[in-house]
Amino acid sequence: MRVWTRGRSAAVVALLLVQVSFAGPPQHKRIRTGSEADINSIGNRKVGHGPNFYSLDREITLGSQLARKVDRSAKFIDDPLVNEYVNRIGQNLVRDSDARLPFTFKVIDSEEVDAFALPGGFLYVNRGLILLADEEAELAGVLAHEIAHVCARHGTRNSTRSEITRVATMSLIFLGPGGWAGYAIFTGLKVGVPLTFLKFSRSAESEADYLGLQYMYKAGYDPNAFITFFERIASETSPGKFATMFSSHPPTRNRISAIQMEIATILPARDRYIVTTSEFDVIKSRLLRGEQDKRADWDNSRPKLRTRTEPDANDTAKPDR
Ligand SMILES: [Zn+2]
Repeated sequence: MRVWTRGRSAAVVALLLVQVSFAGPPQHKRIRTGSEADINSIGNRKVGHGPNFYSLDREITLGSQLARKVDRSAKFIDDPLVNEYVNRIGQNLVRDSDARLPFTFKVIDSEEVDAFALPGGFLYVNRGLILLADEEAELAGVLAHEIAHVCARHGTRNSTRSEITRVATMSLIFLGPGGWAGYAIFTGLKVGVPLTFLKFSRSAESEADYLGLQYMYKAGYDPNAFITFFERIASETSPGKFATMFSSHPPTRNRISAIQMEIATILPARDRYIVTTSEFDVIKSRLLRGEQDKRADWDNSRPKLRTRTEPDANDTAKPDR
């Protein structure tokens, strides 16, 4: 397998120059040991602490119940090479994260650009998102962001918050009131997962950006790839192509600036970063081929229609019977 790396990119240098001229050099404030800014303590930090009614075990049980719903309804990519690859990239990132539970990764056969993580470490990525990525580092950035939501326990903390405010019991989340209004209905998936586990506040999204960027950096990837992918998503205009992941919190200028600031202040420049691998290209072409084969199957399965040809002169001469 070939691995492409690149040195510190011109974009970062340009950013540093901009900061020098407008705001002075990046602030290398003293980083508190064990804080979320301390990348040397990844894996030993108190990420995800805060009021939470769910123990880790209970979160895993809840996540596996929700995952079963998704698994029953979603159509998955069955190419073992694709699955093995995405799982390997994901597990590498998990090893360089604050995760305290095991993760599973699955690829949904949908052209929508989306990825989501359920509480308890059940992560899903759509074919459409992998195909939109240009480099392995871009895919790794999205996976790292989703891993960060799980590490920070955003789903169960969200749910705890809403339970506190509603003084509700667990069963109320699933059974009422409001029926399906509070559920995410994935396009192509006839499954309801309570939104409380999937839609996060702006501050939770920022935290997932912040932590996810550290995880991809620690795994050796170029963190700038997260920005390039964000910008590509922002420039995509096809309606309905983007789902859960970007609908409530689109990749805004503010998010991008916060990421640039993080790279400049707490992620020391490395000589080389992983940008992409030959394997990533192979996986993409297999996904693309699968897509084309499906389209061809669809075309072949449709009834063959031929436009009625104009009758020739001899035919018209014949009388109708
Ligand atoms: Zn997110």
